[in-house]
This record gives sequence, C-alpha cells and structure tokens, in this order.
Amino acid sequence: MEITTNIPVKRTAQSRINEVDFEQLEFGKYVSDHMLVCDYAAGAWKSPQIVPYANLSLSPSTLALHYGQTVFEGMKAFRMTDGRINIFRMDKHYDRFVRSLERMCMAVPPKEIFTEGLSQLVDLDQAWVPKKAGHALYLRPFIYASEARFGVKVSDEYRFVIFTGPVPSLYTEPIKVKVETTFIRAAKGGTGFAKCGGNYGGAYYPTQQARSEGYDQVLWTDASAHQYIEESGMMNVMFVINDTLVTAPLSDSILDGVTRDSLLTLANDLGYKTTERPVAVAELESAFAAGTITEAFGAGTAAVVAPIQVIHINGIDYRLPAYHPGNLMFTLKNKLESIRLGTDADVHNWNFVI
Ligand SMILES: *Cc1c(COP(=O)(O)O)cnc(C)c1O
Repeated sequence: MEITTNIPVKRTAQSRINEVDFEQLEFGKYVSDHMLVCDYAAGAWKSPQIVPYANLSLSPSTLALHYGQTVFEGMKAFRMTDGRINIFRMDKHYDRFVRSLERMCMAVPPKEIFTEGLSQLVDLDQAWVPKKAGHALYLRPFIYASEARFGVKVSDEYRFVIFTGPVPSLYTEPIKVKVETTFIRAAKGGTGFAKCGGNYGGAYYPTQQARSEGYDQVLWTDASAHQYIEESGMMNVMFVINDTLVTAPLSDSILDGVTRDSLLTLANDLGYKTTERPVAVAELESAFAAGTITEAFGAGTAAVVAPIQVIHINGIDYRLPAYHPGNLMFTLKNKLESIRLGTDADVHNWNFVI
C-alpha cells in the first residue's frame, strides 16, 4: 500500500468560481474546481491525485450501477470568524465511512488518504468556502465498485472520489411528518446503519406517497411491529418530552448521525437531561394527550435541525406547540454554530483547522 501525505495536484486552467452567486446558493447546485480521485485494484490503493472536477467515464457494466456497491459520506467545512477554515468531525466521519464500506464488502481507503485528501482539497479550493455564517463547503467523499463485469460478484476494483461544493444554511420551515406503518427504511440485520446509496433509493417511494397525502416526510418505524420511531426521512429524529432530549438508541437500523451525536453531547454539556432509548409511537400519543412533548426535530448535516410541526399517527394529526428561539433545538444549533465559527471553545476537538 502506498500512502502519500502530499497528494499531487493538477490545477484547473480556468476556475468556475465566478459563475457562483454566493448570495443565492442552492443546496447541491455548485461544485468546486477540483476533486480527489484514487483507485483500488489488485489489492491496493494507488496514488491519490487532485484533478480538475470533471465527468467520470464508466463502462456500462460497472458493477456499482447494477448491484449497488456504493457508499458515501456527507460532511462540511466552515469558515471561522478569524478567516481560518475547519473541517467538522473528520475522524467520526471516517470511522462511519469504514463501517459502511465493511458492510458493503468494499475496500477501505487508508485514513491518511481520507484526511489528507479532504484537507488538501479544501485548502486548494478555499475560495469556495462561503463567508456567510451558517453557509458551508459541503464535502462528499464516496466510493463505488468500479470493476467492469456484469456477473454478480463483489467488485475487485473501486474508485474513491471526493468533491465539494458551497451550500447555504438550510432553515426549513417546520415540517409535517407521517408515522409510516406500511413501508420500512431499515430492518434488523440490514444495511440501515450504513450510508449506502440503496438506502436512499428504497426510501423515495414511501416518501412520495406521504407527499401525495400532504406530508413532507415519513417518520420511519421499526420493521417488525412498527411500534418504535427510528428516523425522520434521511435524518435522525429527536424529541423533547418532559424537558428531556430523547432519541432512539443506535442499532443496525439507525444511522449513527454525527449531528445526532454532537447535539446529544452539547445538551449534556449544557446541563440538559438526555436519554437514548426506544421511543414508542404509543408514547408519543400519550405525550401529546398529556402535553408533555414540546419539541420534535430531525437532525442531520444539511440542516442541523429540521423542526417538526405536525406528526400524523393512526389517522390523527398531532400538532407540536409553536416554536420560539428559546427552544432546546435552537439553543443546541446555535451552540454548535458558535463552535464551528470559533467563537465558542471547541472543548471536544471537533474542528480540524486546516
Ligand atoms: C446521513 C444520514 C443521517 C444524518 O447523519 P449526519 O452525520 O448527522 O449528517 C441520518 N440518517 C440517515 C439515514 C442518513 O443517511
């Protein structure tokens, strides 16, 4: 295995940064000038390279396109108030990447390529890191089975790519969600804890059904009895019940969200009560009846928190109390943002300053 800590760079001849309207960013629209590419073949990762962002060339029989061996990460780099740039919780994202890859029988790139690749790429394209607070450079490392062969098999070749792009801070208006009791996202023993492409594809149909009924997202329940709440759309989900921050414990059907972990940690730091335990649908019904549920929100890298206004359970729309800036979710979101901006102490060493 060859590990380089100084990745060779082929610079773009013409930057595209002038095409970007940083005042009107849209999530997923713009990609920065460069990308990292590294191939795995004959049992080894070859030398990574940073090259101008460009299309990939694929054989139609590329294994990933047929049998779904593809895994990704979603993370962010932020500009701090002093102008420096940090990458948020790079180690935790790498560890999750490894767990996802192992579940999908895919080759795992050495940590040096991941961390050096991200740092060099962000450093090279630093002009693309937005200056507005809350905006960020989204980082998308991913690996796909690149062997060209149409028989069903575990690929012997992989391509690791990292590209980046500026994204706005997503404030979502409080959403309406529907407790899903027909379809499932993940089952015990399945791939729900892995950030693999197939988990997303399988979630679209139930989500479209929910949209046609007037809801924005589904609240996934456990696959065996639909009794317990698991996640909200493609985010973890958290509740404030009896002044306690409550979320489902990690399992093989729950994605180990970095935002989930960060918000739990910050809530504990700030002296709030937190519990990781199964949340029954029936518990939500009685908490609504008793008025003890005060907040519900999705947690994920894109939006940090996505407030939930309505939860549909067994034919009834239950409404959360109106939100205000003092809610726990906003307190935690602001705390997280101050750490990323460098205005609050980074006691957990979450910022990797480049
Ligand atoms: C990525 C993802 C999350 C959120 O994880 P973060 O690390 O907080 O962005 C939650 N659920 C699913 C299914 C995901 O794919």
